[in-house]
Formats: sequence, structure tokens, C-alpha cells
Amino acid sequence: MSPARRVIICGGGAIGTAIAFFLSRRGAQPIVIERHEVAGSASGKSGGFLALDWCRGTALDRLARRSFALHAALAEELGNPWGYRRLTTYGGYARADDAARGTGGRPWLSAGVTLTGRLGSPQTTALVEPHAYTTGMMRAAEAQGAALRAGTVASLVRSPAGAVAGVTLDSGEIVEGDAVVIAMGPWSILATRWLPLPAVYGYKGHSLIFDTGSAIPAEALFLEYRDSNGEVLTPELFARADGTAWICAISSTAPLPIDPGAVAPDDGAHGRLEAIGRSLSPALASAPILARQACFRPVTEDGRPLIGGVPGLPGAYVATGHSVWGMLNAPATGEAMSELILDGAAQQVDVAPFAPARLPAFDPKRLVS
Ligand SMILES: Cc1cc2nc3c(=O)[nH]c(=O)nc-3n(C[C@H](O)[C@H](O)[C@H](O)COP(=O)(O)OP(=O)(O)OC[C@H]3O[C@@H](n4cnc5c(N)ncnc54)[C@H](O)[C@@H]3O)c2cc1C
Repeated sequence: MSPARRVIICGGGAIGTAIAFFLSRRGAQPIVIERHEVAGSASGKSGGFLALDWCRGTALDRLARRSFALHAALAEELGNPWGYRRLTTYGGYARADDAARGTGGRPWLSAGVTLTGRLGSPQTTALVEPHAYTTGMMRAAEAQGAALRAGTVASLVRSPAGAVAGVTLDSGEIVEGDAVVIAMGPWSILATRWLPLPAVYGYKGHSLIFDTGSAIPAEALFLEYRDSNGEVLTPELFARADGTAWICAISSTAPLPIDPGAVAPDDGAHGRLEAIGRSLSPALASAPILARQACFRPVTEDGRPLIGGVPGLPGAYVATGHSVWGMLNAPATGEAMSELILDGAAQQVDVAPFAPARLPAFDPKRLVS
């Protein structure tokens, strides 16, 4: 059988655009079909934090190390339009009650923040601006021959012999292809109506972007924070190359809306996050807020991503479920998927631990609507 050339990628997040980039680099013709906006979901709103070895001891270690190296190489090769930068990363703790007192560990931090150690060096931790990264990868893929289409994928098309032949959009239009990749992040669970796929769930997170100018050096912070009501939160704060600072701390189990464009923040989440951010650093205390964001990360039953062929259906693939490491692992996932589709096997990283067949198929009758 000749390798698939015209590959339909459902979803224009970090994963779908990386697959398009690596396929088009090999001369294939990927078509990304995006329902809302490229980078319009978690891939444009996440922290964009990258770590070389924070997945050590887990099945993700090889993928993460390869991807960390690919991020550096891609930024270099493509002129770094997404603010890739190396960082020093610290861990520590703070309390809401005394965030304004005590002796801080770094000049840009409030005195009540205590740093307990260095978690990463510029050799092992880095950052991208995730919206610019994801749209930049799509543009780079297009420059190599990939196409981007607006549309909502509604089902799979199969030939009379049962082979994958393309997808149908909700407009009724058919887009033909030799292979189809489901890369719809948490919305991949909707594809269980057309394909035997394991469950993928969405976990919600909120974030804010502050305009901090040059007040914070190339540093990242992972904290344990005791709120005034006693709740312990784990804020993460990353200083970006574009003079902004991204912070998150508030997650929830709110349900995933069917329409990616309908994701909205939980009541009060941004106000609470703003108060935390302003208390942690004088650089944030009066800084304007440039964006208030909410998004869902895709999570599987066993915490490992799904990267591989759909069992029993040649030509159908899935790449999703990357949870908190989707930005980090996007390039190596894109590379591995391009190898799987064009060569029949991934070369750089063994993706067997991520085979979709390891988990039972989700019963689509359990979907609420
Ligand atoms: C608050 C937060 C912070 C994070 N921080 C980091 C971090 O610092 N580092 C890191 O590595 N990871 C981080 N992550 C995780 C990372 O953001 C995700 O793992 C990653 O973005 C998932 O990418 P994706 O392409 O699978 O999904 P998504 O970004 O959700 O993209 C899926 C796309 O599919 C589209 N789509 C859905 N249905 C259809 C359809 N029927 N037809 C066509 N298109 C469709 C959607 O519109 C969307 O654009 C964070 C996540 C959250 C929530």
C-alpha cells in the first residue's frame, strides 16, 4: 500500500499544527480543518512552559526530551516568531495573609514569597508564547504546502471497501483524504461517535496575562499558596519574552461546552487569580491585565496521551490527551505522527506506550448530547 499523502487533520491546536508541519516537511499534503480558530483553545491560552526532564521516570520521558530539543531547533530554524526563551525556574510557597511581608527570594517578588529551591536552569527549562507558537507552526506548515480549512468535522467517510476516505463537515461537504487524524483536544471525545476511541476528558483552567514590561527577568515560578480561606493552590507564573507575565492557579471540573468558542470562565475565578497575582509580585501589583482566559486541557483515563492508529481502522489516527504537557510534547508528537503515517512506524521516539488500543473504546451513548 502506498503511504497516505493527503492527510486530514481534525483540529488546529498545538498538536494538529505540529502534525501538519512535520507531514508537509516530508512532502505530504496535510489539510488542517479547524472549527473555531487555530490556537483558539488551550494551545493558545496555556502557559507554554517547557521542561527537559520533568517527565523522568514516566512513559513520557523520551517524548519530552525529544520535544524539548525540537522546540529549540524549530525556534532557531523558523526565526523564533513565538518568543522562545530559556528560563531559570524556582519553587516556593506563600500565604495570602503575609504575601506583603517577610523577606522575598528575588527582587521582583513580594517579600512574603519564600523560595525553596531552583527547579530548573536555562539548560532544562524554557518557554514559548503559545498562541504565537501554534499559529506560527500553522503558517510554517502552509509555507511547505499544508492547507487550512475552516469547518466542523462531523463524521468519517469510508470507501465501499471500508477504507478511510475523508471526513464530512457539518455543512455536508466531504473533504477527501487518504488518512484522517483526530487532534481535537478535549473535543476528541465527540469523535467516538464515528470511531472506536478511548475517552478524552477536559479539565478547565483559568489564566491571566499581565503587562509587566521589563520588570521580571527570564524566570518562572511554581508555588504552593495558602489562600485566606485555608485552601492550598498552586500558582504558576511565567515571564514571557514579549514583556508579559502569565499566571494560573484556579482549575475546575466545569463541563466542556460542545462549541470551543463557548468556553467561558467560572464566576469569580479571574478576580481571585488577579488578587493572588497582585499579592505575589510588585511587578504585578498595578500592571494592566491584557487577557483573562479559560480553557480545557485534554486528559485520558491513565494520564498518558493517545498517539497512534485507531484499532481496526487503517488510515485513521488519533493524537490527543497530552494533559499539562501538550505544548512541550507537540513537536515530538507531530514528528512521530508524520513517521507513523508516512513510514508505518515512529522512528525517533517509541510511541507504543501511547497506543490508543491500550484503553477501552468509549461508548458514545454516554455522551450527554
Ligand atoms: C491552564 C493551562 C495551562 C497549561 N500550561 C501548559 C504548559 O505550560 N506547558 C505545556 O506543555 N502544556 C500546558 N498546558 C496543556 C496544553 O495547553 C494542552 O495539552 C494542549 O494545548 C492541547 O493541544 P491540542 O491541540 O490537543 O488541543 P486544543 O488546543 O484544544 O486544540 C483542539 C482544536 O480542535 C478544534 N476542534 C474541536 N472540535 C473540532 C471539530 N469537530 N472539527 C474541527 N476542529 C475541531 C478546536 O477548535 C481546537 O482548536 C496547559 C493547559 C491548560 C488548560
